[in-house]
Amino acid sequence: MRRARDLFPGGVNSPVRAFRQVEGEPFVVQRGVGARIWDVDGNEYLDYVLSWGPLVLGHAPPSVLAAIGKAMAHGTSFGIPTELEVELGTAVRDRMPHVEMLRFVSSGTEATMSAVRLARAHTGRNAILKFDGCYHGHADSFLVRAGSGVATLGLPNSPGVPEALASLTLTAPFNDLDAVREIVDARGGDLAAIIVEPVVGNAGLILPDPGFLSGLRGAADACGALLIFDEVMTGFRVAFGGAREVYGVTADLTTLGKVIGGGLPVAAYGGRRDLMELIAPSGPVYQAGTLSGNPLAMAAGTATLESLTPDLQTAMERRAARLVRGLAESAMRHGVPLTAAHAGTMWGFFFRAEPVRSFADAKAADIARFRRFFHAALERGVYLAPSAFEAGFVSAAHGDAEIDLTLERLDAALAASA
Ligand code: PMP
Repeated sequence: MRRARDLFPGGVNSPVRAFRQVEGEPFVVQRGVGARIWDVDGNEYLDYVLSWGPLVLGHAPPSVLAAIGKAMAHGTSFGIPTELEVELGTAVRDRMPHVEMLRFVSSGTEATMSAVRLARAHTGRNAILKFDGCYHGHADSFLVRAGSGVATLGLPNSPGVPEALASLTLTAPFNDLDAVREIVDARGGDLAAIIVEPVVGNAGLILPDPGFLSGLRGAADACGALLIFDEVMTGFRVAFGGAREVYGVTADLTTLGKVIGGGLPVAAYGGRRDLMELIAPSGPVYQAGTLSGNPLAMAAGTATLESLTPDLQTAMERRAARLVRGLAESAMRHGVPLTAAHAGTMWGFFFRAEPVRSFADAKAADIARFRRFFHAALERGVYLAPSAFEAGFVSAAHGDAEIDLTLERLDAALAASA
């Protein structure tokens, strides 16, 4: 880490990795297998960060490694169409039929940035509405009251974002339809898109109230804005078919990432065919990428989605539920105020007795206790996200034995940090 700090700002290549909110030194990882990772000092951890969500099958799953190896034997990149792109594109659309057409990119940031460009082009309008604590990557338009690392570091509005652009990003509290309707009444004619994480994972885990997402659908339709579900995190996590399957609300555009790349850099945006036909070279909205649709990444994604069957999804969800229930019972036993939830294979908790429905609620949780608990868990071999404003994940490799061991260790960590 001393050498890394000399090379990279904060010693890291993405801010939350630096352990700033929880204080202390990040460990340097060496390898992972299944639910476990090992650091360079030989310490073993049960991993609930899973590369921030992509590793739905756990670390180094043989089927994915074999698919990458097979693709790699033919070369690593061409920048020419390959069959592998069609395979992953088909696998995505089979599970999310409302994604009629899509474009692969290499990061979630590119996906959301491009989806908003498309929405602006389609509507001829410039403003967007996002929600406090939602994180949609680091493109200029999204660094306004953002979650994830920007929330962790207390920098929700980043310097370097031109005021002219930031002023086009309107914000409302998550789960507050009245605030949305007020904005739509006042500024609906300027709104190109409403963009939302259907389940928030970047302010900790926050579930949508019943009716919130359908309310957004109605608000978007009322003013002619597009509805964008940012499913970079929730896609193939909250359900086999994404948020639409759980909440019955269909977005015009969907952004995906993380799981669809099986641990390699892949993301995508897609949706209604008439909208996607506006993207170059079919239409005039420009967006491109040297490594987009990279064959190794496509192969990893396809192998991952093929393994992630509805039965496996159900089994994983059951174990996520058991983890959350067990943690809540532990907290009760130790007299620690805690609220915990899961959405499919995403999960999270806050040290707060009252339910958390918004970023303001999340910020009112006991962050100092989170810091103590994080370190107590790490010392006991459980690696949780090093910020109270991040979701946790489970993988197919987190079996009942791993969940039992985790609950035992977290119980001890709760007692030690109470
Ligand atoms: N949208 C959401 C919902 C995310 O969770 C993230 C990353 N955590 C992004 C967009 C940005 O993705 P990336 O880090 O790949 O740019």
